[in-house]
Amino acid sequence: MVSLLLLVPLYAEEYEKVFVRPSDTQRSRSIVSKMTLEQKCRIIAGLPKTLGKEGFQEAGMVQDPNTLRGCPEFGIPNVYMADGPQGINNKININEGCTYYACGLSAAASFDRDAVLAMGDGLGLDARARGVGFLLGPGANIYRTALCGRNFEYFGEDPYLAGEVAVCYVKGVQSHGVIATIKHFAANNQEWDRFIVSSNIDERTLNEIYFPVYRKAVQEGGVGAVMTACGRLNDVPCAQNPYLLRQTLRSDWGFQGITMCDWQTVYSTLNGIRSGLDIEMPYPFSRDYERVKKLIDNGVLREEEIDEHCIHVLQTLSAFGLLDRPLKDTTVLKDNPYCHQKAYEAAVGGPVLLKNNGILPIRKSGKNRILLTGPYCDRIVAGGGSGWVLPLEGAYVTTYAGMQKLGKGYAVTKAENPDDVQLSSASAVVVEVGFSKKLESENHDHGFSLPMDQEELICRAVAKSDKVIVIVHSGCEVDMRAWGDKAAAIIYAWYGGEHTGRVLSEILSGKVSPSGRLPFTMWGSFENNPASLTYFSDKYITYSTRTRFVENPHVDYKEGIFLGYRGIDRFGKTPLYPFGYGLTYSSFEYSDLDVESGGDDVKVSFRLKNVGKCCAAEVAQVYVAPVNPSVPRPTRELKQFAKLRLSSGSSSTVTVTLPAEAFAHYDPNARGWVVDSGEYVIQVGASATDIRLEASVLK
Ligand code: BGC
Repeated sequence: MVSLLLLVPLYAEEYEKVFVRPSDTQRSRSIVSKMTLEQKCRIIAGLPKTLGKEGFQEAGMVQDPNTLRGCPEFGIPNVYMADGPQGINNKININEGCTYYACGLSAAASFDRDAVLAMGDGLGLDARARGVGFLLGPGANIYRTALCGRNFEYFGEDPYLAGEVAVCYVKGVQSHGVIATIKHFAANNQEWDRFIVSSNIDERTLNEIYFPVYRKAVQEGGVGAVMTACGRLNDVPCAQNPYLLRQTLRSDWGFQGITMCDWQTVYSTLNGIRSGLDIEMPYPFSRDYERVKKLIDNGVLREEEIDEHCIHVLQTLSAFGLLDRPLKDTTVLKDNPYCHQKAYEAAVGGPVLLKNNGILPIRKSGKNRILLTGPYCDRIVAGGGSGWVLPLEGAYVTTYAGMQKLGKGYAVTKAENPDDVQLSSASAVVVEVGFSKKLESENHDHGFSLPMDQEELICRAVAKSDKVIVIVHSGCEVDMRAWGDKAAAIIYAWYGGEHTGRVLSEILSGKVSPSGRLPFTMWGSFENNPASLTYFSDKYITYSTRTRFVENPHVDYKEGIFLGYRGIDRFGKTPLYPFGYGLTYSSFEYSDLDVESGGDDVKVSFRLKNVGKCCAAEVAQVYVAPVNPSVPRPTRELKQFAKLRLSSGSSSTVTVTLPAEAFAHYDPNARGWVVDSGEYVIQVGASATDIRLEASVLK
């Protein structure tokens, strides 16, 4: 027996309350009714390239500024857009720099809603200081394999975690009247051939794995804009995809904001407009006035179809106040101590301690002779492409600078190419490796191995010293087989933003206990990840063996809903480090699980005690495991988490609520979410494979 849950109307009602008001819609309708077709065409695309340098300057902008074109006759301003997820990567203020926040994946790894809110808060202020109306973030594509060049911008493999992070990010940004733009809807999970590849995904998998982050951002975060993915979904270009734009976003989820394409991905004037795409960026390639007029004159398109998009644009600008106040808030500092502090709060909980044989933390001692090496120990490290951020002058702290600040008892030297004596005589060797701007970026994927000669450097270090601490900067799992078991400690540090070195030195010295958790499963090898079997048309691509399909490039997501840790039992694979895993400098005891059913909700409470020697934060994860599901389902799925900082010896009770949705699966026949009646096990643990408490509940 099954019972049907009607989730959509429930959320849609709530959503209307938090976003566009009826007065915004009335206002936009009234403006649109007075506009000419030419004026309407201006506000549904970026600035025309034909304006040229002078035209742009006249409009008060540098060329190619990523701007929604306004219409001064009706008081509609040009509205600037800026990347990106981890700072204002701004074409208006080229070379000016901005607060550089931790990347999206680091924010997800923090499992800390407050930290993500802080990041959004800072980003929103930075945007206001620069006159940016649309922040082109968050990036929210699900982590599928370790090769995607943009994984660092996103929130990992789990839809629940990604959704929670996205909502906090969006709320933080939008609290300053800046429109957040969640991207890239819906399944841009690799960069190879990103403009043409088709992600072929069944409806259940879309709804359970790839959609939830967007749905939550829309319905709980009230996100103002959604950017479509570059490529195709089930063969239809995402920017011209009525299933995504009309059915899913507008009709199923009640979205009232703006849809825009990823840059240069509209191929047909008619299809773009009719499928539900509001704005074409960065230029009006397909929807300049002449083209649109011709279609209307010929009776192919109706003017009301243009009006619909204009209304979406204007009601959103109105709701965010952008029709009533200047975009730039001149009272907000561009180099803002408040935002630098927010960047620290967002970054400090990100690094994940994967391994520690006891070498960490490095205690203060006159005997310490710490050697730093690797390409990033004294250099800015950042992901590239539109996710790249230029830090403000003097704001970036390298690990070497951070270690030097620790002062007495932390004697530190650095060597780009240390010799054997330096390696073997050091009390600790910190090797900081990873990808960076050019190597991990939009537009290309990378290999599974560490780039350049980094692996050799680590191997040389572990051959000479048993005190090697490896720090990896990447948004992806990298191959650790050659040195993983020989390193004394491994810290996964993502791209931590301007405070990278401060945070890492605090972790190395024990001032802060590491508290990040893996937001994706590490499989140990590329091939061990079941999704790798269908990565890029069944081919595993490396730098040297690049193979491409010319016709109809597509990827069949054959693992379906069993992505990441959801596939461990299904495919009989053992991960190297599972989702949710991460060490601290302390240890925690879980006890007293109590599960209480009341109406649709289930209240879960348990006790957490810090039984170790220092203050640390634990990420307690609540999974739901269906006992006899009517359809194949993952063994367990994350449905709640709580991050708690506890001093040594202290304990606290954690209480979380699981709504009915936490038990549901998507049923394509019902086009909705279904809860099987029967038994479910509520599992509380420290990772997807480390369950400490469980109790049954009946639905
Ligand atoms: C990227 C988007 C970005 C846009 C504007 C595109 O190439 O895919 O994520 O927001 O450029 O820079």
